[in-house]
Amino acid sequence: MARYNKKKSSGSLGAVALIVLAAMVLSSVIGVAMGNTETGKTPAPAPSNTVTPSDVPSGNNGETVPQNGADPEPAKEPTAKEKALSRQDFTIDPATGMAKEIKIVDDNYTILVNRTHPLAQSYKPDDMVTVKYVVSGVGKKGETDQLRKVAAEAFEKMVEAAAEQEINIKMRTGFRSYEYQKDRLYDPEVKNKGQAEADKATARPGHSEHQTGLALDVGGESQKYALSYEFGDTKEGKWVAEHCHEFGFIIRYVDGTKKEPGKLTGYVFEPWHIRYVGVDVATEMYELGGGKLTYEEYLGILD
Ligand SMILES: [Zn+2]
Repeated sequence: MARYNKKKSSGSLGAVALIVLAAMVLSSVIGVAMGNTETGKTPAPAPSNTVTPSDVPSGNNGETVPQNGADPEPAKEPTAKEKALSRQDFTIDPATGMAKEIKIVDDNYTILVNRTHPLAQSYKPDDMVTVKYVVSGVGKKGETDQLRKVAAEAFEKMVEAAAEQEINIKMRTGFRSYEYQKDRLYDPEVKNKGQAEADKATARPGHSEHQTGLALDVGGESQKYALSYEFGDTKEGKWVAEHCHEFGFIIRYVDGTKKEPGKLTGYVFEPWHIRYVGVDVATEMYELGGGKLTYEEYLGILD
């Protein structure tokens, strides 16, 4: 009985030792640290001493790399920022300081245009339509009554939603070409006020968001649809500030005041100037900044 027990005991010790040895070898291979209560009876295999916790991730990572050479990164949708800057393949003409080439893909309504991110002189959207609700006589049914289709439809929806609450708004100016910006606005402003003053409120040609066909100036009935710094205090201006994001618009120059241009946007505050960026981006910006976040801050472009 004692003999049998001893034999059995010896056999079972041998089995334990074998299991422990196997486990330690395994642990050294897969890099998993295991508790060993039998160290007095079983010599620890040398390799296990070289395995440290810091070895674990690289060992395990090696096992997860696909062997077939396929790209492990799934194709990602470009972010708003990537889209906003997607015409960075443009080249600047040193003679004019203007972008020479520009590519704007059809759905790229998040493009950033400001003092440091110009459009090419020749850029003109090819999907513009005449907006239904315009102040008559401003654009004389010309290009300035137009916006890119996506922005026009969003604005019309916004006007109709406002009207249901007895808020009446209309577009004053939509698209402005490079030439319009230069000949009708910027050059005359420079002549009248000098360049420094002109730059505070009027975009240089190629730097106006109006050239994207995604920005517009809006007026309200209580001010006879005029452009006014007080628009923001009217019921129409307040409604626009509160609701335009629901239709994909942002008020653009929110870091400026009536007199001082904003540090990021570079322009005085224009409560009437709204820009289409899509409902997702506009809503996110509204939630982040309550209507006070600039597009530059949202995109993280602070130069
Ligand atoms: Zn404007």
